[in-house]
Amino acid sequence: MVVPYKHEPFTDFSVKENREAFEEALKKVEKELLGKDYDLIINGEYVSTDDKIVSYNPANKEEVIGRVSKANQELAEKAMQSADKAFETWRKVDPEERANVLFRAAAEIRRRKHEFSALLVKEAGKPWKEADADTAEAIDFLEYYGRQMLEIKDGKQIQSRPIEHNQYKYIPLGVGITISPWNFPFAIMAGTTVAPIVTGNTVILKPASATPVVAAWFADVMLKAGTPAGVLNYLPGSGSEVGDYLVDHPRTRFISFTGSRDVGTRIWERAAKIQDGQKWLKRVIVEMGGKDTVCVDADADLDLAAQSIVYSAFGFAGQKCSAGSRAVVHQDIYDEVLDRAVKLTNELVTGETKDADVYMGPVIDKGAYDKIMDYIEIGKEEGRLMAGGEGDDSKGYFIKPTIFADLDPKARLMQEEIFGPVVAFSKARDFDHMLEIANNTEYGLTGALLTNDRDKIKRAKEDFHVGNLYFNRGCTGAIVGYQPFGGFNMSGTDSKAGGPDYLVQHMQPKTTSEGL
Ligand code: GLU
Repeated sequence: MVVPYKHEPFTDFSVKENREAFEEALKKVEKELLGKDYDLIINGEYVSTDDKIVSYNPANKEEVIGRVSKANQELAEKAMQSADKAFETWRKVDPEERANVLFRAAAEIRRRKHEFSALLVKEAGKPWKEADADTAEAIDFLEYYGRQMLEIKDGKQIQSRPIEHNQYKYIPLGVGITISPWNFPFAIMAGTTVAPIVTGNTVILKPASATPVVAAWFADVMLKAGTPAGVLNYLPGSGSEVGDYLVDHPRTRFISFTGSRDVGTRIWERAAKIQDGQKWLKRVIVEMGGKDTVCVDADADLDLAAQSIVYSAFGFAGQKCSAGSRAVVHQDIYDEVLDRAVKLTNELVTGETKDADVYMGPVIDKGAYDKIMDYIEIGKEEGRLMAGGEGDDSKGYFIKPTIFADLDPKARLMQEEIFGPVVAFSKARDFDHMLEIANNTEYGLTGALLTNDRDKIKRAKEDFHVGNLYFNRGCTGAIVGYQPFGGFNMSGTDSKAGGPDYLVQHMQPKTTSEGL
C-alpha cells in the first residue's frame, strides 16, 4: 500500500533555518560539486568522450558548472541498441517493481533537495524559490506517476460472456526518445523520462545542452534506485547530429519533446516519415510554446490583478511557456492596473540569485539575451516603454523586467513568443473584446482571468481557448496532480503532464480473449 499522493511542499524561506540550510547547500555545490566532468550512460556503463558540452552559470559566464561528454551518431546507435535490447526484459518487469524505482529515486532527491535546488540556482540561474519549486515538481512527477502506474496496471474493465475471458490491458510501446528543455531542467526532464520508464518502455534522454548537469545527477539517482542497464541512457549531444538521428531512427517508437515551436514542429514532421525497416507509426508527445494572457475585467481586485500580471510575466525571467507575456485589461481600469504593475515591477529585486530575496535572475544564455533585447527594440517601436527596457551582459545575461503599454493586439509583441521578462499591455473595450484578443494567437497554453463575475467565469470556461485556465491568480505554476499541464493548438499535443491521462500515452491497449 502506498499513501495517497500529495504534492511536495515548497520551502518557506522566511524561516531562518531554511535559509541557512539552503546557503549551506549552495556552499557545498560551489566548493565540492562544480566544475566536474560527467560521462554518458549507455547500457548502464559510463562512457567518456573527448568532445564535451560545457555548462556555464548564466549569471556569471566565468563559472563552469560542469563538462559533460557529448555523444555522436555512433554512440547514439549504441544507446539505441541497448535500449532496444533492454526493452525485451523491462517490459515484463512487474509494474510495482518499476514504480518502486521511482519512489526510491524520489526519496533520495527529497533527502538531497536543497543540493539539487542549489545546482539549479547555478546551472539555470533560477531564483531560490523557483529552484525549490523545480525540485519539488521533479519529486512530484516521480511520486505521482509511480502511483498512476499502480492504478492502471490491470487495465480497464470490459465485458466477458460465459464462453470467454476478456481482458483489456495497457502494454508499453518500445524505445522512447526524451528531449528535455532547460527552463525546467529538473522537473520536466525527470517527468518526461520517468513516465516512459515506469510504463515499461526504455529511454534515451537527450537533455538540453544549457543544463545537462542536473540531468546527469538525476540519471545517477535513477540508476542507484534500481533502473537496470539500458533502460535509461543519458545522451547529451547536439540536436542536429544526435537529436535528428534518434528522431529518424526506425527503432524509435515514440518521442517526448518539450521546447520551442520550431523544433517541436520539425520533430513532428520528421517523425511522420516512415523509414526503411520501420514497422510502426511513431508517436509524438510535444509540449511547445505559449503566448499566454492575463485578462483583467473592470470589476477585478486591482492589486491582485497587478500582482498576477507581474508574477506571471517575470517569474524565472519569463522563461516559461506558461509565462503571462500579455496583459489585456478593461479600458475602465487600464491606467490604474498599468500604474500598479509598473510600481511593483520597479520594486522587484533583480540580479545574481545570491539570496532568497532576489526575485529575478539572468536569462539562460547569449542567444536568449540577444533575442529578447531585439524584441525590446521592436517593443519601443510598437508600444510605450513603461518599465525596464535595459540589459547588461558584461558578467551574466541580465535584462530588467520590462513592461510595454498600448500594444495593438496584432503587434509582434502580442503575437510572438519572447521567452524573456517582457510583458505587453493591450486595452480591451469590453469583455468580448478581451476574449477576442486572448484567443487571437496560434498558441493555446495558459491564461488567467481576474473577475468576480460568475457569468464571465462561466463564459471564459467555454470560450477562453487554453489548456490551463486560471481565475483570480496568475497563469504559471501548475502543480502535478492538481493542475495537469498542457496546451491547445501550436502549444502542443495537450498531453497534460502531471494529469490522470498522461501515462497511457506512452502505452498501447491490448485486448485478449480466451475461449472457455
Ligand atoms: N508547468 C509550468 C507552469 O505551469 C510551465 C512549464 C514550462 O514552461 O514548460 O508554469
